[in-house]
Amino acid sequence: MESPDRTDADLSPKQRLLTPVAKVRGVGPYRAEMLARLGIRTASDLLFAFPRDYLDLSDERLVSELEAGEMQTVRGTVVEVATSKSGFGKTRVSVLVRDASGHLRATWFNQPFISKRFFDGQAVLLSAKPKRRGLMWEMSHPTVTNLAQEEAESDGKKMLPIYSLTEGISQYYMRKMAEAAAEEFAEVPEEVFPEALLAKYSLLPLGEALQAIHQPDNAEAMEQARRRFIFQELFIMQLAVAIRRLQQQMQFAPELPTSTKIDARIRRLLPFELTESQTKAIEELTADMALARPMNRLLQGDVGSGKTIVALYAMLVAIAHGKQAALMAPTEILARQHAETLSELLTASRVHFAVLAGGTSKADRARILDGILEGEINVVLGTHAIIQDDVRFKQLGLIVIDEQHKFGVKQRAAMRQDDQSPHVLVMTATPIPRTVTMTMFGDLDVSTLRELPTGRQPVNTYLVEPDKQQRWWAFVRDRLREGRQAYVVAPLVDESETVSAPSVSAAYEQLTNGELEEFRMALLHGRMSSIEKQEVMDAFRAGETQVLVSTSVIEVGVDVANASVMTIAGAERFGLAQLHQLRGRVGRGSHAGFCGVLMVDEVNEQGRERLEAFSKSTDGFELAELDFKLRGPGDLFGTQQHGLPPLRIADLRRDREVLEEARREAQSLVASDPGLKQLDHARLRRQMLLRYGKALELGDVG
Ligand code: ADP
Ligand code: MG
Repeated sequence: MESPDRTDADLSPKQRLLTPVAKVRGVGPYRAEMLARLGIRTASDLLFAFPRDYLDLSDERLVSELEAGEMQTVRGTVVEVATSKSGFGKTRVSVLVRDASGHLRATWFNQPFISKRFFDGQAVLLSAKPKRRGLMWEMSHPTVTNLAQEEAESDGKKMLPIYSLTEGISQYYMRKMAEAAAEEFAEVPEEVFPEALLAKYSLLPLGEALQAIHQPDNAEAMEQARRRFIFQELFIMQLAVAIRRLQQQMQFAPELPTSTKIDARIRRLLPFELTESQTKAIEELTADMALARPMNRLLQGDVGSGKTIVALYAMLVAIAHGKQAALMAPTEILARQHAETLSELLTASRVHFAVLAGGTSKADRARILDGILEGEINVVLGTHAIIQDDVRFKQLGLIVIDEQHKFGVKQRAAMRQDDQSPHVLVMTATPIPRTVTMTMFGDLDVSTLRELPTGRQPVNTYLVEPDKQQRWWAFVRDRLREGRQAYVVAPLVDESETVSAPSVSAAYEQLTNGELEEFRMALLHGRMSSIEKQEVMDAFRAGETQVLVSTSVIEVGVDVANASVMTIAGAERFGLAQLHQLRGRVGRGSHAGFCGVLMVDEVNEQGRERLEAFSKSTDGFELAELDFKLRGPGDLFGTQQHGLPPLRIADLRRDREVLEEARREAQSLVASDPGLKQLDHARLRRQMLLRYGKALELGDVG
């Protein structure tokens, strides 16, 4: 029971921040319920619910003060809304607004629906460059911000915060509630940063920043407040990443150095000279593996840059030391394909390998598991099922994960063994922008394959407009008649009623009865059983099937050298990196590769821009950066899959410089105080554990 004479002053800051939001001035039980939908339950939640945007009102004026030609804002009340038709069927909406000094007319042509935004007595802000027409000031197509009645007159504030809202709460009340929370609670939370750090980066102290982010005096104050919180968010993330890295380096791994003898033995197995990038990557990873702490390396390289061989090299080093290696692929198709590559390359060696897959019979599986446990099997291939359940190794020295972006931090963590950890090499053909490797993959070292093996040709890519499709299919038929094979890719398995996108079943239907009826075709998609998929792939690889109609399950790694032409329908639904992956399935052998992107009329401006970039650039890194710019990191890699909580205020695209700064500082702080044990690091440590402790499995830190 609370004692009746207890006041807020008796509560600790933490207790005060946990005050139910209903008790904040101006909230009450009804709005508290609405706020709960936004996840705002306490005073602290409200305090840290930052505006998503601001309206700069520094150019706000009375109508009588307006000047022609400059961007200005007027605040007033709607007194008349009229829609008229001019000649040629054009409509004109005219809204008359009054303020204390006079009248202003706002006009819109051919946007009849805009009249619905206004009613008599509605308070608004209108921003545009005004023009004088006769006796009246006029704004053509101004930006409109609706206000509450209470805001009809200026309170002198130069910045109007705009919040993310839920139904039942207006901007006005949200502003009021946030203002109240800022006034009452902004000084309550304790500063997170040590004094010296605030000074070094000229960051606003927490209390001041909280006040300014909700109620900035001007644009500069708002920027300063935002910068502080962006820095804080990125800094705490980078602390977590640095600490996780440190923890990894404190684990033990078997030392697997490479000798000239081992190197010569491995090179003898390779059918070609390694590229310069491959040699460099191998140097980097063999240096890692020679140490008594686990390698954690990301190998990125464009489609066809030859990552598999690099991985094979690493596996053979492990095997040379009597250790086992595991290679995990995102799909069984890929795992089997890797097995095939290995069996070709390793015919001359005594390396034993086995595939663990869904289709393996019980008896076979038992025998394989036994072989792994006894150490007779040197290399195990499969999907991530390998790290699950009952697979026990005799001496696992190395794990290779192909196409890392499908695996998360959690899975990587799950592969740790008790006393000794295996070395880990992750590979991705989706080039990862540097900002992203610094965050989601911040705990990995990176090797990059920059060039393609000589003789490989870039894939010629064409945007096929609707009226050119006949010609495209004629081109595809020509390639097929020459003996090549073809892929046709569509985003969906079946026609869907809600999503209007092409499906493989419809494409198959249409092509078998039309454009490609004379050829042997097959369907492939993720809903088929693994045995069915395998049969289809085997038939295609053997050339029995000429055309494979598939969803993006063939996106990664599928390697059929005779396939030279790909058609992609519904391309606007794929990310650029993904399209580049898909395209990488052709032109893998000695035959030039071709990719046709079937365009539809409905593709919007940005979609067209992306597809045009795709047809012009053959550089996966460039495309990944562009995708990142246009669509953000989520689409590329699926932040959720990595298990990291989403960023709230920082934006990796915009805040790259702050990220670099925060990263350097976080690294040096962790170097000087690895457990964040210093008194003035306690709050940072708490914040970090709160946000990333679980996601990154940081344990108790120090
Ligand atoms: P990815 O990086 O896309 O996984 P792969 O490892 O599948 O690429 O290699 C693509 C193709 O290039 C394979 O057929 C492989 O045998 C071949 N390859 C790899 N390295 C070289 C090289 N140094 N010289 C010639 N061909 C190579
Ligand atoms: Mg590959």
